[in-house]
Amino acid sequence: MSTLHQPLTEPELLAALRTLNRSGLRGGGRAPHKPLLLLWLVDRFAVSGNSETRYEEVAEPVGGLIAQYTAAVSIPDGERAALPFRLLEAELWAATDAFSQPLPEPASHRRLLELGARGRLRPAVEKLLDDRQVLDRVRTLLLAEAIGSSTGSSGTGSNSSGTSAGSTDSALEQSLRGALAQPPAGPRYRQETRRVRDSRFARAVLPLYGNACAVCGFSGRIGQAPVGVEAAHVHAHADGGPDVVQNGIALCALHHTLFDQGVLGLTEHLTIMVSPHFTHAGDHRGPTATALAGLPVRLPADPGHRIAPQYVAWHTKHVFRH
Ligand SMILES: [Zn+2]
Repeated sequence: MSTLHQPLTEPELLAALRTLNRSGLRGGGRAPHKPLLLLWLVDRFAVSGNSETRYEEVAEPVGGLIAQYTAAVSIPDGERAALPFRLLEAELWAATDAFSQPLPEPASHRRLLELGARGRLRPAVEKLLDDRQVLDRVRTLLLAEAIGSSTGSSGTGSNSSGTSAGSTDSALEQSLRGALAQPPAGPRYRQETRRVRDSRFARAVLPLYGNACAVCGFSGRIGQAPVGVEAAHVHAHADGGPDVVQNGIALCALHHTLFDQGVLGLTEHLTIMVSPHFTHAGDHRGPTATALAGLPVRLPADPGHRIAPQYVAWHTKHVFRH
């Protein structure tokens, strides 16, 4: 996994999870912080189909879990979650402040709260977790990694290994379920925040384009509300693209799909590129997407609101099908 945007195979993901950079614990074993945060994220993904998480949501439940599986008692629960939130491997996870800027180093629990820190598993990881069987195998591995940490930290070896592993497993499962049952982690809350965020982005972007698709000019509405016209991220939000108008473009639902699938792209001069791999079915009778190639997209009147080159470059490199 040399780059952050390459597809990931299941064996690569499992290997990365087995080799997380983790510090040692007093008394043996390895720190359970990262496996526990990852378990929480994987379970959130299983519930909502999206692992995006604000730091303030995980600080208490994940901090509490970590506290249960480490011997140290002097650190407040929240402080424990700050560590893996910042340090989880970048090939698996992207964490930023509320404005999509990198987190400072180091950043305490309090600082992460102030910054509105948020993070999300990489799209390549989420894509693998879409397969329920892969998700279950990832979960099993992470449980084993976290349990391995906790039995190591007990240090005494007084229990027989069989009952120890079994009871820790169910205790950890129970704790996880308890942590995940916290209201902020529920799927309804998740959808609500995403819906609010998306509509804020749309309200900022769409008027700059006259509420019309920048490619074809479609500008449907019901009453005053645009319909079938959407604010697309040029640098995908799932990959850390920011919610700023310079990273947005108004597109109709069809051209949004084609843009996100890499059929349509933008040149540095903001003219339209069409993937050479794209074809229509033989009996296609509508307007043809290939005719769009080379046409300029409609842009906001104010140059300061136009799509910034770095987001176009990202889309061209990681999404557009050359
Ligand atoms: Zn359109």
